[in-house]
Amino acid sequence: MKSFQEIYRAAENKIAGIGAAPGIIIGEAYLYTKEKLQISKADIEDIPKAKKDLTEAIAKSKKELYKIFSIAREKMDEVRAAIFEAQLMILDDPILLDEIGKRIEIERKSPEYIVDDEISKYQSKMILSHESYMKERALDIEDIKQRIIRNLQKKRWESKIDHNVIVVSETLTPADTILLSRNKVLAFITDHGGLTSHAAIISRSLNIPAVVGTHNSTILIKDGDEIIVDGFYGYILTKPTPEQKEFFIEKRRRLIELQKELEELKDEKAVTKDGKEIKLSANVDVSGEIDLVVTSGASGIGLYRSEQILNELGEFPNEDEQAKIYSKLSSRIYPNTITIRVFDIGGDKFRFLDFEEPNPFLGLRGIRLLLENPALFKTQIRAILKASDNRNIKMMLPMISTLKEVKESKRLIEECKQELRDEKLNFDEDIELGIMIEVPSAAVMAKEFAREVDFLSIGTNDLIQYLMAVDRGNDLVSNLYQEFSPVVVRTLKHIVDEAKKAKKPVSLCGEMAADTLAMPLLIGLGVDILSMSPATIPYAKRIIRSFDYKKAKRLANKCNLLNTEEEVKETIEKFFTDNKITRTRQII
Ligand code: PEP
Ligand code: MG
Repeated sequence: MKSFQEIYRAAENKIAGIGAAPGIIIGEAYLYTKEKLQISKADIEDIPKAKKDLTEAIAKSKKELYKIFSIAREKMDEVRAAIFEAQLMILDDPILLDEIGKRIEIERKSPEYIVDDEISKYQSKMILSHESYMKERALDIEDIKQRIIRNLQKKRWESKIDHNVIVVSETLTPADTILLSRNKVLAFITDHGGLTSHAAIISRSLNIPAVVGTHNSTILIKDGDEIIVDGFYGYILTKPTPEQKEFFIEKRRRLIELQKELEELKDEKAVTKDGKEIKLSANVDVSGEIDLVVTSGASGIGLYRSEQILNELGEFPNEDEQAKIYSKLSSRIYPNTITIRVFDIGGDKFRFLDFEEPNPFLGLRGIRLLLENPALFKTQIRAILKASDNRNIKMMLPMISTLKEVKESKRLIEECKQELRDEKLNFDEDIELGIMIEVPSAAVMAKEFAREVDFLSIGTNDLIQYLMAVDRGNDLVSNLYQEFSPVVVRTLKHIVDEAKKAKKPVSLCGEMAADTLAMPLLIGLGVDILSMSPATIPYAKRIIRSFDYKKAKRLANKCNLLNTEEEVKETIEKFFTDNKITRTRQII
């Protein structure tokens, strides 16, 4: 049988991108376009018809929302489903609907213009409000406004897919990815985006193969085309030839076989050939994933990206709603532990500010935003503490760049603890606090940071982005996003050495933890906890069980002296060949 390389070399119908989530899919393309709705401000003659159109569009919007609400109640917990109930209530608001009706009669403008203008007025008032609850409602209203206008224009609602398809899109936000994944999505393809963009991370979490950064897929692929998606090598084949189809059908069969074999490793430990045990924990990005964690053989949750709740809900849940979510997770994972990372808002994640920052990745993100909004931060801290009664929750702070931020966070945590004591509520007095090391300043001062907290967790996704000054989501510079750059190797070594000297545990929870090629290097450097999406845990176990820790240490020492990314990669690849270790893509 031919190799992948031979197939791709000969293929004239290939599109190259970045393999962001592994898997092989053959299926039908669905072009997902988020077209901006054009609002017509036209004068109208027929007022009764305009009002009838409005009534019909509102009725259709309600029908759609009822359906979404009932699906949501089935698939999500009550708190998450309630958002759609709130949207339905807005559609029943007599004052708003009366006002729109009246304005159509007086101004004699198209209903879509009046709907847009009137609802936008509501929204601006809410955005300007000082209450965060009102600001949050503004987001719901945007969704309703778009829905009514779309129905007035009799356009179809794009995120509704009724059969198995491969979604092809220019870009995908994390929220799009989650929304679309509730439908029958086989794979994702995007024109833009890099390996560690949050949409890519979510695809991996959901175990949906993805190729990102393809530049022009949305031009080269037509709606309904048959295509092959290879999330391992990052290629797409459009309208495949019979030979290509036969090749990939066989590869899919072998992949399914391998996955069955890997399942047998579920209850085995991740231990090197010479007996060094590595703890593998799970990254959880979407609520549905928790069941996968329990069945994947992970030892607990090493990173719970709590901001995903906001993406799924589209708003901030209040303290009790949050406590309920965290409590449920803690009980589900017990007696293992869960590390809840407080909201990492900003960058390419949940939008909080009413304006666009010029450099969101360097802006008010993560801990910076939380410390600027102590009420919001304290609500989350109190909710985590309230849920900590099982004593299996740890708290983690994202985007730490100064010691002052750690100290200020610790002060707020202490304040919350005192409040709960005064309220006579039970919580874990000794709850562990850790920080993400993902900003170079924190890496350089790892020693001082390690003294302040109970544990460190290295976030390579951001650390590489900031070390190399390369946007993690931008495919134009993805060649500079180098996991194996000597600067990354040396920085990781420094952090791990300092954490060990301070006798504090250090884990690695960036996407690099799941890269099988990086595993001997990371373990050789001394990282003994790797946190990754649950679906990748069996693959990691297989690799870890196939080499010696002693040899991995020698490999890490060697890599630490090299000067280029190529040299580091070649050295690691040689380690794989010399020790006869095969990676998934080589087996299938
Ligand atoms: C990281 O930066 O490596 C990380 C794990 O956090 P996130 O990907 O959520 O920014
Ligand atoms: Mg990060």
